[in-house]
Amino acid sequence: MNVLEVRGLGVDYLSSSGAVHAVADVSLDLRRGEILGLAGESGSGKSTLAHAIGRLLRPPATITGGSVTYHRAEGPPVDVLGLRREELRAFRWRELAVVFQSAMNSLNPVSTVGSQIDDVLRIHVPGMSRKARVERSVELLQRVGISADRRRSYPHELSGGMRQRAAIAIALALNPEIIIMDEPTTALDVVVQRDILHEIRALREEYGFAVLFITHDLSLLMEISDRIAIMYAGRVVETGNARALHKAPRHPYTLGLLRSFPRLHGPREELLGIPGTPPDLRSLPSGCAFHPRCRFAFDACDSTLPRLDPDVACLLNEGKGVQ
Ligand code: SF4
Ligand code: MG
Repeated sequence: MNVLEVRGLGVDYLSSSGAVHAVADVSLDLRRGEILGLAGESGSGKSTLAHAIGRLLRPPATITGGSVTYHRAEGPPVDVLGLRREELRAFRWRELAVVFQSAMNSLNPVSTVGSQIDDVLRIHVPGMSRKARVERSVELLQRVGISADRRRSYPHELSGGMRQRAAIAIALALNPEIIIMDEPTTALDVVVQRDILHEIRALREEYGFAVLFITHDLSLLMEISDRIAIMYAGRVVETGNARALHKAPRHPYTLGLLRSFPRLHGPREELLGIPGTPPDLRSLPSGCAFHPRCRFAFDACDSTLPRLDPDVACLLNEGKGVQ
């Protein structure tokens, strides 16, 4: 059962030198209660896609086509891209919450973390008493490992990890069905990162929300995701169950990414990586955008655009691994 369906989504950045296709023809399902990891090098369109889904894009970014459909547990499907301003206010927090790359960007620096949770509750649950709001914020903070007395702390008084936990507590305030996390732990040290990620998994078990989790760190994503989608040059090039994708990647780019990152467990493998650099979105290579870097490229690759069919977008792949 899907909680969110993205179909044929396109996002351009308009500039004086023309349109840059940051996201092109992306179709993606987020299943109820799953953690879907979105990976790819920087500039692959991950954040733009997530911002488009959350209706957080700002000019010069423009949605050029496609649809985003949200399925409530009950009731008719919601056309997210068609939501008007007032509807969008209700949709955010209650149905979908976002935790940004830097908690400093999601938190208000001049307001205590307790009052930031209180604000969300006060605005969105008008009938809730002050006492109930205080109890709820204490509960939320404790649930993410922050003691109740920290309610009165300002963001700058907390460590980076605590700030990120506070941002997660605020996102959980209205029990949303979907949480989008855009590199939520990148700025933190590895041990803190892993702690928080495992906690997100535990919270997911408890509350049942689905997570769209974005990072360029594929090994981290493998640890916490149920399924993974890999993006390259604005397109999804492979999706799959995290374990299956790890064991038998089918797209040459996925294979390269997997070899680019050291494993957290087990023997170290040679880091083959991927030669070259990500393409300039203003002048993408013809055909398969990955072809100049692909060691499996053949004749058709510079003229034919591979379609995601159904889980991998590579002309070479007819259901076989590339290893
Ligand atoms: Fe490589 Fe060709 Fe597949 Fe693109 S379509 S990933 S260039 S083999
Ligand atoms: Mg980003």
